[in-house]
Amino acid sequence: MKIIVQKYGGSSVATTDKIRTIANKVAKKVNAGYKLVVVLSAMGKTTDGLISLAEEITKSPDAREMDMLLSTGEQVTVALFAITLKEMGLSAISVNGPQAGIMTDSAHRKAKIVSIDEARLMRELEKHDVVVLTGFQGFNERGDITTLGRGGSDLSAVAAAAALKTEHCEIYTDVDGVFTTDPRIVPEAKHIPVISFDEMLELASSGSKVMQSRSIECGKKYNMPIWVKNTFSDDPNNGTLIKEEDSTMEQVTVRGIALDKKEAKITLKSVKDTPGTAAKVFGMLAEKNINVDMIVQNSSSNGNTDLSFTAPKEELASVMVTTKEIAKAINATEFDVNPAIAKVSIVGVGMKSHAGIAATMFESLAKAGINIDMISTSEIKISVIVHENDGEKAVKALHAAFELDK
Ligand code: ASP
Ligand code: MG
Repeated sequence: MKIIVQKYGGSSVATTDKIRTIANKVAKKVNAGYKLVVVLSAMGKTTDGLISLAEEITKSPDAREMDMLLSTGEQVTVALFAITLKEMGLSAISVNGPQAGIMTDSAHRKAKIVSIDEARLMRELEKHDVVVLTGFQGFNERGDITTLGRGGSDLSAVAAAAALKTEHCEIYTDVDGVFTTDPRIVPEAKHIPVISFDEMLELASSGSKVMQSRSIECGKKYNMPIWVKNTFSDDPNNGTLIKEEDSTMEQVTVRGIALDKKEAKITLKSVKDTPGTAAKVFGMLAEKNINVDMIVQNSSSNGNTDLSFTAPKEELASVMVTTKEIAKAINATEFDVNPAIAKVSIVGVGMKSHAGIAATMFESLAKAGINIDMISTSEIKISVIVHENDGEKAVKALHAAFELDK
């Protein structure tokens, strides 16, 4: 059995007309002898709409009930898609997360996939040409529906491909793959044909919206190559292949630049500089499932220090409550929350073997008159926090400095 896993994002299935267009593409593959698992997102901005509905009632809705609500979006799409395929004379069945045996942990709204019962998917594939699977959802050990975090349909697709051991996974979206940066910010941004898992992972976790970062982690873990392609492009060369790093990739120092305006900076002031303080702070944040990104601790003067970290703006309400508890627990005098920040990151595996990248980055930001607030680095990434208003300007300056338009 030749199996292909394809995922179509919300904009690709926004209307029944678009659903029909995609069903036709799928039918062509079936006629060419393939069986397909088609993973779908909710139509258009459905998920945003559902969240807004809940927020009309409360700003902090119960997470389990939110999953009950949000999972409906994907169910609408898969049912409509299966109806369309059947109307075209194909044999198809839609399944939701629980029906497909996508078992997750119980962290509602950002659940992790624990296992997939691939035997169930295989049984359906034996009986049908196409299995239409809801993206973004699974179920926990209590049998409750869970969702995998925003953009989680990518993860559903990559995990399903890994479980079924297909050759690659195809992600269809509304852009022509991955670019050196967001072309809406820098029109000269160049298309990237091939990128490593690690680079894509760093770009995604740094604000590139093309792919959800956990889906790339999953691709890397199972070495599942991922094709990101434009749903509506006829160009066979469109798209980006995300795969294992190879020796040619290190020749490029900076592969791409990402801008992230979704984080806020929190500073705990006059924190006692004693063993165990950081453990307590980040332990309490972890307990509340808050994903901390950058961390900076100043050197201490008279035994006290300032401790800053960034966390998602989306979780600011819970971050504030937790930070208040933390400040009390560690006797910090006060804390400060600054949502007006932007994170700008340059990413490339070539940084491992090329010197001077950081210097070039900081020089070009200085030339553009941009002040750097925080810096963090990994083997293949340098990120800086700047004022929110400087984010785009920084991306433009860096794109030119590293000649990514060439
Ligand atoms: N519908 C979900 C969202 O908007 C999942 C996805 O699109 O991947 O986040
Ligand atoms: Mg989406």
